[in-house]
Amino acid sequence: MAGLGEAPYVPQDVQEVQTLIQNLEGSTKKESKASRKAFSCKKTAFDIANSPEKITVNSWRFQDWDYKRDDLPTYARGLFTSKNEKGQPEICIRGYDKFFNTEEVNATKWRNIENNTKGPYELSLKENGCIIFISGLHDGTLLVCSKHSTGPRGDETKSHAVAGEHWIDKQLAAVGKSRGDLARELRRRNATAVAELCDDDFEEHILAYAGDNAGLYLHGININIPEFMTYSGPQVQAFAEEWGFRKTDFLVLDDIQTTKTFLDQVAETGSYNGRDVEGFVIRCKSQEKASGHLVDWFFKYKFEEPYLMYRQWRECTKALIAGKPPRFKKHVKITEEYLLYARRQLAENRGMGKEYAANHGIIKLRDDFLKEKNLKGSDIIRAEYAITGGPQKDAAKDIILVPIATLGCGKTTLAVALVHLFGWGHVQNDNIQGKGRPPRFTKEVLTQLEQMPVVFADRNNAQRYERQQIIGDVKTPHPEIRLVALNFVHTPDTISKIREVTQNRVLSRGDNHQTIQAASDQNKVLGIMEGFIHRFEALDPYAQPDDGFDAVIDLDPTANSRHNLETVISQLSELFPKLINDMPSSEDLDDAINVALSDYKPDIRHTIGDRGPKNNKNNKKGQQFKEQPQIAKRPKPLEYVSINLPKTPILEALETAFASVSSNKGRFFRQLQETRRTQPEFHVTLIHRAASKAHPELWQRYTDMHSQSGGDPWSGGSKMGQCKVLLERVVWDNRIMAIVARLVDEDENWECVNQVAHVTVGTRADDVKPKESNDLLKRWIEVGSGDDSGIGEVAIEGRLIVDGTVKGILSR
Ligand code: GDP
Ligand code: MG
Repeated sequence: MAGLGEAPYVPQDVQEVQTLIQNLEGSTKKESKASRKAFSCKKTAFDIANSPEKITVNSWRFQDWDYKRDDLPTYARGLFTSKNEKGQPEICIRGYDKFFNTEEVNATKWRNIENNTKGPYELSLKENGCIIFISGLHDGTLLVCSKHSTGPRGDETKSHAVAGEHWIDKQLAAVGKSRGDLARELRRRNATAVAELCDDDFEEHILAYAGDNAGLYLHGININIPEFMTYSGPQVQAFAEEWGFRKTDFLVLDDIQTTKTFLDQVAETGSYNGRDVEGFVIRCKSQEKASGHLVDWFFKYKFEEPYLMYRQWRECTKALIAGKPPRFKKHVKITEEYLLYARRQLAENRGMGKEYAANHGIIKLRDDFLKEKNLKGSDIIRAEYAITGGPQKDAAKDIILVPIATLGCGKTTLAVALVHLFGWGHVQNDNIQGKGRPPRFTKEVLTQLEQMPVVFADRNNAQRYERQQIIGDVKTPHPEIRLVALNFVHTPDTISKIREVTQNRVLSRGDNHQTIQAASDQNKVLGIMEGFIHRFEALDPYAQPDDGFDAVIDLDPTANSRHNLETVISQLSELFPKLINDMPSSEDLDDAINVALSDYKPDIRHTIGDRGPKNNKNNKKGQQFKEQPQIAKRPKPLEYVSINLPKTPILEALETAFASVSSNKGRFFRQLQETRRTQPEFHVTLIHRAASKAHPELWQRYTDMHSQSGGDPWSGGSKMGQCKVLLERVVWDNRIMAIVARLVDEDENWECVNQVAHVTVGTRADDVKPKESNDLLKRWIEVGSGDDSGIGEVAIEGRLIVDGTVKGILSR
């Protein structure tokens, strides 16, 4: 990428593009999953609204971690294909090759960067807007896309792509050119323009882009071919100039040593040209492994800890000086200590605040604090992330996972999932009964550790003395053993949410449901849970006993266990790169959680038993719970009329429908299953009481039919007749899922007042009511499915017909 020179150009090769698309298609098919190593690429089609030829483009999206593989047909992040004027396949948008942070992958280890790359090194700031791709279609349409989509989103919020189009119109007008001009020019060059949309009015960013600074910053032009080929900085700037884009600045350095020194220096302060920056993207050439050819290659250098912590301190100090409350989320403990120190210094030294506000003495105040604490920034970060360096990195055994949690956080679920995935050990404190439990618990953990590389010490350890106990009992005789805290973070802000989530989990779900119906037992469980929350002492990595942990992994008690499982595995693999050889796929993780949630039945008696007489651990039916008290009944009015459907065929149809979609597409369905949010029974509502005023005749007809059918106002409902229901397709967004249904009704007896007759499958949580299916389907009819609408859709194979029973359902 030398100076202006001639811009790179290569035409498209139809055969090559055809092969690329075949390879991408192949990966979306199910068969490729047979081999564990297969990648998956998601294809989404978009109709281009303003294209005279009604062109459709397809977006191709890999899972992010797949880019670390070495067998992808292309590494373009942001890739759209379409057809040319002859109906042949073409690449219409080509993003940059996915690039990585220094040290993140083998190729970006400094040693390899030094050995394999060639200058000049073009450094640009890592922007934090959103990426916009622009190119020209054969019918003269200017195609504007965000990374994986194009066109409007379908709700009132503007999509990135549409916001990009507005800016393009504005800038083109300023240089007296049209969309068509730009489209033809890009097509002539067989290129994709890559720009950053930076506009605070559209979306707030960390760096300010208001007024004159807002717009599209052009930072690259890529050739639309499977390999990565891109313009040099000066070439990009020349194009920007001509077409009214804002220009991206490039700092050009000749050799890698200068580059590295420069980057390390900027990292010290986190600011460059008086501006806070997140990091840099570095463009250069790299030697291709196989051929030895020099090809375009990018990497990034992101500012990391402790610099981000220093920046936080600086901002908090400025807030103090301005008399505002400092806001911070990370490094909480040490930041509080720092602020205490800073406050004192500011009080003692008049004039210091003013100086500081003018950016003087920032580093000194920070260093003075560290000196007083006798700490280095890196020590703090190490203590927090607890990567204690050298020998630990090599560990592949002698690791104990120690949760710090309260009841219902999902400790056991995690443990069972990890056992399922890796065959690690698991000791449940609940299963250790009798006298002297703590030492016996530790002993059992150590015994399993002789056989297994990792053991999960499944106990709450909510209080410091418990942590002290296990750390002491393990470390005194076995200093080589690593204790990793699984810190289910509880803060005053989150505690009420945690309470809600854990109580719901423990009380109201599946198998527990039957066992703890009685209010008195519920209260007992709640009392015990509350006790744990009350006694909970947060982890403090700088003080005894918690400084005895070798590492801390923060988890969110309110997140689902699938999420926490992924966090644990990814952080463990970073802490101990040799521990997990074969990283599980996302399907493996889904499986493991499903196993943990279904096979393993939590036994609430242990919880109750914790404080009372101990029960035999295998005797699940042994516990006696009182029956629900009988409540005197009153006559009840009709609430709604519905066609009740058999459960099994519907669940099977859903399973089949989702078996062959990408894991991304199936995510919400899995979430519903995993969180047991599918409806306990399925029905099509014909009319609800709420709609009786709008449809008085129908309501009257149904009410009459209901009483004629012997509808008993003292009981739950009545059978009013039969109706077959045809299940067409499943539609969902991230809140609710429904099946579009059609009444197959020969006598035309039945009428449904909803715009789209449907079966609600489930909702995300109790805050989303089943009736919101109506809103979902209304939106679906209007805007359809796809990335932009956020609505997913999958057909039910063979359009299943099920027999339903029409019932009148009475108010509770
Ligand atoms: P522990 O008390 O920390 O060991 O928590 P458990 O692992 O026993 O989990 C408490 C309850 O919540 C159990 O019934 C689990 O099946 C359930 N549970 C755990 N993780 C999840 C999750 O991600 N979603 C839902 N809905 N339930 C979960
Ligand atoms: Mg448990």
